[in-house]
Amino acid sequence: MRSVEEALDAILADVRLTGVETVSLDRCAGRVPATFTFAAAGHVPPFDNSAMDGFAVRSADAPGRLRVMGEVAAGSAEQWHVGSGEAVRIMTGAPMPPGADAVVPIEDARETGDAVEVPAVAQGTYVRKAGHDTRAGEVVELAAEPLGPAAVAVLASLGLGSVEVRRRPRVAILSTGDELRAPGAELAHGQIHDANGPSLAAAVEDAGGEATILPRVGDDAAAIEQQVRAATRQLDMLVVSGGVSVGRHDHVRDVMERIGHLDLWRIRVQPGKPLAYGTVNGLPTLGLPGNPVSALVTFELFARPLVRRMLGLSGTGRVTLPAMAADRMPKDPDRRAYLRVIVTRGSNGLEARSAGGQASSQLRPLAGANALLIVPDGEPAAEAGRTYDALLLGAIG
Ligand code: AMP
Ligand code: MG
Repeated sequence: MRSVEEALDAILADVRLTGVETVSLDRCAGRVPATFTFAAAGHVPPFDNSAMDGFAVRSADAPGRLRVMGEVAAGSAEQWHVGSGEAVRIMTGAPMPPGADAVVPIEDARETGDAVEVPAVAQGTYVRKAGHDTRAGEVVELAAEPLGPAAVAVLASLGLGSVEVRRRPRVAILSTGDELRAPGAELAHGQIHDANGPSLAAAVEDAGGEATILPRVGDDAAAIEQQVRAATRQLDMLVVSGGVSVGRHDHVRDVMERIGHLDLWRIRVQPGKPLAYGTVNGLPTLGLPGNPVSALVTFELFARPLVRRMLGLSGTGRVTLPAMAADRMPKDPDRRAYLRVIVTRGSNGLEARSAGGQASSQLRPLAGANALLIVPDGEPAAEAGRTYDALLLGAIG
């Protein structure tokens, strides 16, 4: 059985980046740019401008009583020249009039008739110099993550109307199991609702991919094979859940082996031991365990980094912080565990307590958890008072 790292190395060994498409700037949030560096064509801001509503003055004239010659508003192309003893009324963002070298905020000035009384002011006060955010020719390097609001604003300020982004990886989800029925359907005895279809689709979208849920299939090798074969067209990845273990009705691994190539099976991880990875017609295919918690946790550990790698991103995009176990949480000593925990701020840093039952069929503790506490293999439990890495899935309340 491989470790999490060994499995991840195998899965990420040979990943193809998705192609590039152009999107307008107002549709690019959350997308991953094809390059993270952008050369600035001009200064940002392009001209010296006022940081305040007030009066543009010559600092050498202040303090003093100055004649107000006119007004420049933001967007105005008017070019008042400020001579000695003169001032120009100015608004935030308006270009600095030639001759002026400082701005006195309106709150500090006293206007009477066509004159204004201003206090002493240092040269450059409340003047935003051209290029003070970005200089022309400067190479702007954005964080290698999906574009957030501030990054979008930077691109807009650089003058871009559109940006080249990676196509979202197309990931198909296939739930397998004779017991599964569609969400919302009436259940007969022995049947359950398919949780993995919608939950894995949500995880795909969250990772930056585009999910398609394939028609469910039962525990039937021929039906699974047919769906898997069909899926290899027009896709970047296939995620199958259920039927990957050693039961008499578990066919997914056999199908992968028969029509494709199985790179690995079984990982020393809890939850999620029976995980299969391979390729079918070159399509990366993950077989995840059917238990809904195992499916989501293994998606987090193995499929999410794969989706991100296809986008040109590294890692999981998650934050890991040390947190002290507040109570003892038993685990399988032979596997690394990812326990569902709630991390809160304690008096000595972060504390983690169990979010509920740790069985891989208990979904609600995962939904209630904001972190997975990583407890190494070789240890029988997370021990109260000891500190472990917590992989944050949500905000700390
Ligand atoms: P399997 O991996 O097929 O052995 O399934 C393990 C457990 O997960 C069984 O209790 C299944 O009923 C359950 N399971 C499998 N697939 C799903 C699914 N799509 N949604 C909810 N539970 C599932
Ligand atoms: Mg099954």
